[in-house]
Amino acid sequence: MEWLTRQLELLAEQGLKRERRALSPLADGWVEWQGRRYRNFASNDYLNLASHPRVLAATNEPLKSTVGSRASALVSGRTIWHEQLEETIATFEGSEAALLFPTGYAANVGTIAALVDSNDVVFCDRWNHASLIDGCRLSGAKLRVYRHDDLDGLQRELCKCSTSSRKWIITDSVFSMDGDIAPLAKLCDLAAEFEADLIVDEAHGTGVFGATGRGVAELTGTEHRIAVRIGTLSKSLGTLGGFVAGSRSLIDWLWNRARSQVFSTALPPAICAAASAAIEILQAEPERCRYLLELCDFFRSELQSHGVQPMLGSIGPIVPIVIGDSIATLTIAQHIEGSGYLVGAIRPPTVPNGTSRLRISVTSAFNPADLSNLAVTIADAISSSNNNASS
Ligand SMILES: *Cc1c(COP(=O)(O)O)cnc(C)c1O
Repeated sequence: MEWLTRQLELLAEQGLKRERRALSPLADGWVEWQGRRYRNFASNDYLNLASHPRVLAATNEPLKSTVGSRASALVSGRTIWHEQLEETIATFEGSEAALLFPTGYAANVGTIAALVDSNDVVFCDRWNHASLIDGCRLSGAKLRVYRHDDLDGLQRELCKCSTSSRKWIITDSVFSMDGDIAPLAKLCDLAAEFEADLIVDEAHGTGVFGATGRGVAELTGTEHRIAVRIGTLSKSLGTLGGFVAGSRSLIDWLWNRARSQVFSTALPPAICAAASAAIEILQAEPERCRYLLELCDFFRSELQSHGVQPMLGSIGPIVPIVIGDSIATLTIAQHIEGSGYLVGAIRPPTVPNGTSRLRISVTSAFNPADLSNLAVTIADAISSSNNNASS
């Protein structure tokens, strides 16, 4: 396997090799690394619930008896904590039922592969999350990828498709690397026109968008028109696990057929208790979402006032700033790190060649003054990188 060494060297030369580091997580959005504290702006804990005292305390009771769930949900791993969490999710989402998966990734792969079969046709936005694409591949269905947000292109593909095959439109609600949202109402219209069903992944939507934090579907008033809504507990809800919300028959089918759920150990009970607590906090304090979005708007305006343009179309907590070159992106991210802020440096193959970017995730752990300082730091880091490039 000597080719591995050569390939890794090649990645390093292109600024594409990912290094691993181990952070010590602290409360309220902070992390420590090699003796220094950083504000973490590369985290998905948008509502700062991962270290909320009530979420932490919820783990006490289940941890008295076990850490692991000891089996897959189907065999004996589904505990009272799982049942309570599924009921909490169904109530929160306003759906008949909900089903847990080990992760959001597993929810996407397992759900798509269980519903879609090889005679079906699947229409996917080009920037859909890898787990949606992997689920489509696993299903064996014919995959039609349309250009990002290109509804005309999607419509043309739908027209070409035989009326006899079952059709699915699958999309992220918030695109994780561009931070923009899918046109769900128009996708619902197309789905209705062509008798397709819609599967929507709200991984970055839940806890952020909509009056009560149910995501972009709530924001756009399309919840009842979406056949399958998938979410994760690992982002704004600060814990772990994927879920599907939908009709009782959908959930019964997935319980019987979704392999990533059937053949994997159930979530630890303490995680379920923590996730229930996180959802209860969100239900009691939906204004957390509005406050988060206000912070995001404020941060964008601070960036712009310092001459930095966040990616057009991005709204909400994911703030991408396209740099282009991978090595420059890394250098700028390191410069920002030097001032005590962790930000993402996203490079190919996660994003297309030539579109390497900083990716800042705004969380409500930090206040407007932190965001102002970060905006200045980013502007300085970018201009000193430009100066170095031109000198
Ligand atoms: C993060 C993410 C997932 C995966 O969720 P996990 O719970 O982290 O496995 C799925 N879809 C999208 C769009 C995501 O951003």
